[in-house]
Amino acid sequence: MNPELTEKALDILRHPADSKLITHLNSCVHCGLCGTSCLFYKSFDDPKYIPGKKVDLVASLYRRYCTTMGKVAPKLTHARDLDDEMIAEMVDSLYGACTMCGRCVAHCSIGVDIPFVVRTGRRMLATMGMVPQSLQATVDAAVNTGNNMGIPEDEFVDTIQWMEEEMQDEEGFETAEIPLNQPDKEMLYTLNPREPKFFPLSISAAAKIFHAAGESWTLSTKMYDVTNYGYFSGNDAEATLIAQHMYDEVKNLNCKKLILGECGHGSRALRWESPNYMKQHPDFQMITLVELIEQYIRSGRIKLDKSLNTKKYTLHDPCNITRNGGLFNTLRFVVKSAVPELIEMDPYGNENFCCGGGGGMLAMSEFNERRLKIGEIKANQIRKTGADVVITPCHNCVDQLMQIDHHYKLGVEIKSVAEVVADALVMQ
Ligand code: SF4
Ligand code: SF4
Repeated sequence: MNPELTEKALDILRHPADSKLITHLNSCVHCGLCGTSCLFYKSFDDPKYIPGKKVDLVASLYRRYCTTMGKVAPKLTHARDLDDEMIAEMVDSLYGACTMCGRCVAHCSIGVDIPFVVRTGRRMLATMGMVPQSLQATVDAAVNTGNNMGIPEDEFVDTIQWMEEEMQDEEGFETAEIPLNQPDKEMLYTLNPREPKFFPLSISAAAKIFHAAGESWTLSTKMYDVTNYGYFSGNDAEATLIAQHMYDEVKNLNCKKLILGECGHGSRALRWESPNYMKQHPDFQMITLVELIEQYIRSGRIKLDKSLNTKKYTLHDPCNITRNGGLFNTLRFVVKSAVPELIEMDPYGNENFCCGGGGGMLAMSEFNERRLKIGEIKANQIRKTGADVVITPCHNCVDQLMQIDHHYKLGVEIKSVAEVVADALVMQ
């Protein structure tokens, strides 16, 4: 332990920006009602994974270092020291046993913002240099190369050109393009780097939709990565740096809008949270691809024939799009416009379970085994629907769902929203 860094970490509790943190740290009544909301507690049946226990890790430090009773009589107030044992517990519970899905918040009798407290604990751990190595490597790649997978620019350009050529071979899309670095367009489109690396068809699917809508758009070779793992590592300075690069690229290319590609956490980190950790509001419009597609359909800019999609479909709600992003109706309007029948999971929408890959879990190889175990809840949900295809507007979820599909032998296809919408396009 470095005493200087430990003191800096404790300053996060001693000098909070406003009263929110103290309110949430002092509000838990230890009722345990949040327990069965959490996929970690449900999967491992270990009381340490009850969401309220995660809150109490941080709250016990607050009592120890920021209250008179905790300083004088720590045992009486269940206050704890920030020592090696405590740090190890925090790393295990706050990084390794929380996807920051927010399901517990909906079931908390008091309304404690548990992911906010978890992220505060992560900020303390990040200050002490305790971010799990694989998560930190992902953040470092984004800071140093502009994308979290460290994809070299020439490789990215090759993939885009390949996708453009394939798309132009299809009837109706002979003149469709995937523009790169073109200034003065209406919108800058962004991707999850998993798309150029593993799922490039979702890039051409979005390009087909933009072509059908007659959109003015571009991708940037320098800054296309919508993700921000600095948000999940808890390092506000790195989260700000990554988000600032994106803000700057919108200005640099003189675009009016930033369209957030299909990535739940990227949408949360940029659209909903960046004004909080950056302490600035963007002076351009920022919306998700799903919202843009909704606008296209409602305004008649694109036409869809749902009978072109012929399989049985279910929908996985990414926590950061539906529960935390408020896009339940938007997502269903778009998906139901593109497929003949949607079989909902049980539970679904705001009550849906996380796939298990959120909150940075997918990037933390240290917890791979645990991540696949908690994915069993999602595997069972999918199996019960009897669907052939799982649709989801998040490439992190796509990745976790593909691993769940393989591990639990589900035999389903995983598709992004752009892919099912592109498959239903009727060119006018
Ligand atoms: S945010 Fe999700 S994963 Fe974290 S404690 Fe709450 S229910 Fe569990
Ligand atoms: S439901 Fe809320 S008040 Fe009850 S233990 Fe969980 S976090 Fe605490």
